[in-house]
Amino acid sequence: MNNSIRNVVIMGSGCAGHTAALYTARANLKPLVLEGHEPGGQLSLTTLVENFPGFPEGILGPELVENMRKQAARFGAEYHTAQVDQADLSQPPFVLTSGSRTFRTQSLIIASGASARWLGLPNEQALIGHGVSSCATCDGFFFSGKEIAVIGGGDSAMEEAIFLTRFANKVTLIHRRSEFRASKIMLERAQKNEKIQFLTDTVVDDVLDVKKNEVTALRLRNVKTGKNWEFPSNAMFLGIGHIPNTRVFAGQLEMDAEGYLKTTNHVFTRVAGVFACGDVQDRRYRQAITAAGSGCMAALEVEKFLEQH
Ligand code: NAP
Repeated sequence: MNNSIRNVVIMGSGCAGHTAALYTARANLKPLVLEGHEPGGQLSLTTLVENFPGFPEGILGPELVENMRKQAARFGAEYHTAQVDQADLSQPPFVLTSGSRTFRTQSLIIASGASARWLGLPNEQALIGHGVSSCATCDGFFFSGKEIAVIGGGDSAMEEAIFLTRFANKVTLIHRRSEFRASKIMLERAQKNEKIQFLTDTVVDDVLDVKKNEVTALRLRNVKTGKNWEFPSNAMFLGIGHIPNTRVFAGQLEMDAEGYLKTTNHVFTRVAGVFACGDVQDRRYRQAITAAGSGCMAALEVEKFLEQH
């Protein structure tokens, strides 16, 4: 048990967490950032980021997030690897627990982001790492010269499909509707790519073959005609959105039906001294720049809160 009480602990190290760390470090609050299973957040799993202002040629996601980390560390932000498995927000100091370690803090910034969503197919979990993946940049390389299916109709799915054409002979983008949530520019880019074909109004009922310990085919169904068929594929990449990482706050903080933290005035939770920023509380914008912006807001509110208390 570490008995010292921190001014501020920041849970999460994506865009929101690093920005909150930068601002609270520059305010001399000596923030402690707890990095969980996915350090760097979603940016660390992406490729070229073209819409973060200040980089006219774009910047690689992992590089951008690493730069943010270095910038915060330069001003004294401290980073620990610790997946928070329990939180007690009943009274200050707030207590976070990670295995046998305990962190106590006068204020807390929750920037724990959101993790990839899975389809929930019978064979899906058994084939993760054997052809089923939610991270094209991590696993695409293993499918050089192969045929890949990408599931989803948003920007993530388009980005994954385009990226995977670097390796695959053919990428099939499978989407449950015929309208796309993706931005026009990303959709057009995918549509223009000769290696990408589209299968719409189609859902995946299962992925095969667990016995062979590799993906060989997807069991597909057309939602309009009801037709079922087996679609040969060497891999299935998911780009179907994310689930907010809020489990440890269940019963303590207000959440919406999907588990996103509810905030007022952008970053206030219902517990004084506990703020939330980034994708964990934003189901509307979910951009790197908005996450960074809300990280800044949370840091400024922490400063005010600590001055007043
Ligand atoms: P999203 O926009 O929520 O899209 C998720 C997609 O997955 C939707 O097409 C959805 O279908 C589909 N889906 C969800 N659950 C499904 C299920 N159980 N079975 C089949 N399909 C399912 O999520 P996202 O693509 O991850 O994007 C999130 C945010 O990040 C967006 O704001 C996006 O603009 C941003 N982003 C931007 C970039 C970029 O600008 N380069 C890259 C990636 C992400 P329905 O449409 O039918 O609901």
